[in-house]
Amino acid sequence: MMPVASVTLTPSMTAPSQPDSPIASPDAAPTGAAAVAGSASADLVQDVADANRILFHQGVVDAFGHVSARHDKDPTRFLLARNMAPALVTAADILEFALDGEPACPDARRVYLERFIHAAIYRARPDVHAVVHSHSPAVVPFSVVRSAGLKPVSHMCGFLGAGPPIFEIRDCVGDESDLLIRDNALGDALARTLGDGNVVLMRGHGATAVGPSLKIAVYRAVYTEVNARLLADALRLGPVEYLSPGEAHMTMTVNEGQVDRPWAMWKAAARRAL
Ligand SMILES: [Zn+2]
Repeated sequence: MMPVASVTLTPSMTAPSQPDSPIASPDAAPTGAAAVAGSASADLVQDVADANRILFHQGVVDAFGHVSARHDKDPTRFLLARNMAPALVTAADILEFALDGEPACPDARRVYLERFIHAAIYRARPDVHAVVHSHSPAVVPFSVVRSAGLKPVSHMCGFLGAGPPIFEIRDCVGDESDLLIRDNALGDALARTLGDGNVVLMRGHGATAVGPSLKIAVYRAVYTEVNARLLADALRLGPVEYLSPGEAHMTMTVNEGQVDRPWAMWKAAARRAL
């Protein structure tokens, strides 16, 4: 693992460390050390921190779940918070990882067990620049009822296309697993199920959304949760009319061109809330 240069720290990037969440990899304890995001731009590091808070405030993540961005100057690396609750992440908590899922430079802070989700998708998808993994509550039912099919019902959710595939971890490791993506082999299997899509559901676990930018990946994660709520409501009313493939494509193009609007609002709301 090669050491990288430190970024210049702003006051907001030197906030005290927070306690780790219980899905830690073993051993190390938090140190309160400064960010080690290498030469990534300070704006991107701050955006990753804001994305964590947005996803909590929008109900996509709780104490668990994480969001990453591909390094803006080195595509073989990505930025991800240390092991902690997303709502508490600051820029000082963002670490740099290599595409094997390991920290890019020595750091005593604990890292997320499921960082291999991010690593595997960045390896498989050069077009992906951000990844959100969540246990998005309205989405999980659609991961366990295949016949329900999480297809888009709102013009805000055309990125769901024909509906996300569902990753079945039993196909990889049988029935003795904790359902977590705890190594690169499982990460690769998840990435294969995602294929060239925007979202993959994970049976009995959650979902992973990807995008060509951090803002779009966050948008897709938020609106995957929205579509799941809307579709669950619609299914109770009667037969559902889904977006057609053409409608899904057109609405995705139009809405994601305006992603700065929700990002600015969500960021302001999340910063006020915490
Ligand atoms: Zn998970």
